[in-house]
Amino acid sequence: MSTAHLLPAFARVDLAFDHGEGCWLTATNGERYLDFTSGVAVNALGHAHPKVADAIANQAHKAIHVSNLFRVPEQEKLADRLCAESFADYVFFANSGAEAMEGAIKAARKFHAVNGRSERYRVITFEGAFHGRTLATLAAGGNKKYLEGFGPVVEGFDQVPFGDLEAVKKAVGPETAAILIEPIQGEGGVRVPSNQFLKSLRALCDQHGLVLIFDEVQSGMGRSGELFAHQRTGVEPDVMALAKALGGGFPVGAFLTTKEVGKCMTAGTHGSTFGGNPLAMAAGNATLDVMLEPGFLDRVKRVGLLFKQRLAEIKDRYPNLIAEVRGEGLLLGLRCVVPNTQLVDALREEHLLSVGAGENVVRLVPPLIVSDEEVAQAMGMLDRACARLTQSEKPAKQGAAV
Ligand SMILES: *Cc1c(COP(=O)(O)O)cnc(C)c1O
Repeated sequence: MSTAHLLPAFARVDLAFDHGEGCWLTATNGERYLDFTSGVAVNALGHAHPKVADAIANQAHKAIHVSNLFRVPEQEKLADRLCAESFADYVFFANSGAEAMEGAIKAARKFHAVNGRSERYRVITFEGAFHGRTLATLAAGGNKKYLEGFGPVVEGFDQVPFGDLEAVKKAVGPETAAILIEPIQGEGGVRVPSNQFLKSLRALCDQHGLVLIFDEVQSGMGRSGELFAHQRTGVEPDVMALAKALGGGFPVGAFLTTKEVGKCMTAGTHGSTFGGNPLAMAAGNATLDVMLEPGFLDRVKRVGLLFKQRLAEIKDRYPNLIAEVRGEGLLLGLRCVVPNTQLVDALREEHLLSVGAGENVVRLVPPLIVSDEEVAQAMGMLDRACARLTQSEKPAKQGAAV
């Protein structure tokens, strides 16, 4: 076996896993790793969670797929529950984050078109944003590295600096349809906008009749310590995209809307073959069962705070390596002094898995079920990795002085 016939689009680490349990993954060579990537914020309940695994297995024996030609009871159930827990009245199910975002953008544009303002199609987005890899979501993200070589950039996205309210105000024009922001930027480097900034965006949207879209593909589903990260802020969007942890590891995306926006997406305006299939919905319902158990989210908040405090201590101990601790709940990041890849590699050598992000950040996104003891184990690994990196820095510096 080799990667020879895989499109070389990923820079993969030469490591493969056979199975997992909870926060741990066992590699094909038998070595165990503490997984603080959660498959990039996907496996919120860890690996092989019995409730999710059973729900998927049981549903697979009943019906995997029937299509949206028919009613799908599991879909109706998950939509009811997501709406009960949020601002939303409607849910559309897709299969990934980018697809959820495409739908969210389409809904915002359609809302204006249906209300006689089809000139309003532009969306204001923020530097450092990530919204997916389709042509429109790449344009929304505005990352030049990702856009290069793929032809004309999809029209209609105006990017402004993160957190810059004056720039947002200036960007609002007669063609503006929506403002799109992640309540916590994940890929961009675990950047948390101030509550005041989100409140101001809401006010601006209300003033100009714009749609406020939150991309909670990464920050949503318990990651921040609330079911949805914006619920910490008291600001509600008109449209929200979800994916990553929504299926507890199984691919599911969704966008949620208010009645006012969602009612414009009438029969035939949007669709998906696989979206909302019974198997994905079973995974989503099982995941939500666990997340909505009394105390689950409080635990995420508590463990997240504990973890963040411990990380702050490490930062103080190794200012040569770590400049800043960022994040909320269990979406945490270390902004590094050394290249973040060095720390990710050193952590992996200690058998702790982490993932890089923008602004030279190392993301630590453990499963939400992580125990205090596993956080303590991770801290030991982090400490040893930092000590080793500090050791290996010293000879280089002496060498340079000679
Ligand atoms: C991961 C991510 C996406 C894209 O999700 P895919 O499932 O990879 O398409 C979109 N927005 C945010 C905030 C993300 O973190």
